[in-house]
Amino acid sequence: MKQKKIDPSVIKKIAGIKNLYLVLDYDGTLTPIVSQPSQAKLTSGMRTTLKILSGMPGIKIAILSGRSLNDVEKLVGLDSFDYVGNHGLERKIQSVVSLDPYAVKFREFISRFTEELKRSLKDIPRVLVEDKTYSLSAHYRNVASKNIAIARRIFEKAWENFSAKIFFRIKPGKKVWEVRPAYGCSDKGGALGLLSGWVSKTKRKGLTLVYVGDDVTDEDAFKALKKSDFSIRVGYSSRTAARYWLRSPAEVAVFLKRLIEARERIFPDNAQR
Ligand SMILES: [Mg+2]
Repeated sequence: MKQKKIDPSVIKKIAGIKNLYLVLDYDGTLTPIVSQPSQAKLTSGMRTTLKILSGMPGIKIAILSGRSLNDVEKLVGLDSFDYVGNHGLERKIQSVVSLDPYAVKFREFISRFTEELKRSLKDIPRVLVEDKTYSLSAHYRNVASKNIAIARRIFEKAWENFSAKIFFRIKPGKKVWEVRPAYGCSDKGGALGLLSGWVSKTKRKGLTLVYVGDDVTDEDAFKALKKSDFSIRVGYSSRTAARYWLRSPAEVAVFLKRLIEARERIFPDNAQR
């Protein structure tokens, strides 16, 4: 399906939906991808926009990230939001924190495999192996291009020798290999189901989801959406299940601001609490 660029008519359509659940990825969606994951900070402008949006009647916001829950919650720093971390394994929804049972069961193996990867990749400069407790990420964004193939071979060999690999799967992302449990809620499609499952039955009727994400891992979420929902991919891709696209996190910021303005026009009496 041909993707459509978000334009004023689409913004108007979304702004007019009474019961809206905005589910947003973090890295590459709300902030540009940076060389050190710890440096991906939200701009104060983006934080303000998100805060205003979440204060509007009929709008709920969730952040759905591959980062650990603690990490993404700290980076966003807005209390009233729902958060899902580790692609669905860790959640804080309506202030209730929960963990996928498989995540708990397999965490020992994650720390063991993290150590193993750190050891075997130690001679490759600038590989970053990140232990996210319930999953791990091996980032090769900063690795010299001549070393990437070598790093990949080392990673694959370590995976081959990993005794618990039947419980896990590898998911590639943007310049990263991720190792996650093969069971439980460990992808963004499942996580989306979880988020809407928390919405009360009366509100769920007529609830429309808008999902915005930039990576291959977001495709699971795009595919899980209903026809009446809105899927937006950040950065054009010819291989996406998303119906709409925006060029960059900067365009996401503009889109969210326009959404506020359009909603204020459509519902002038209760634009803000
Ligand atoms: Mg992303």
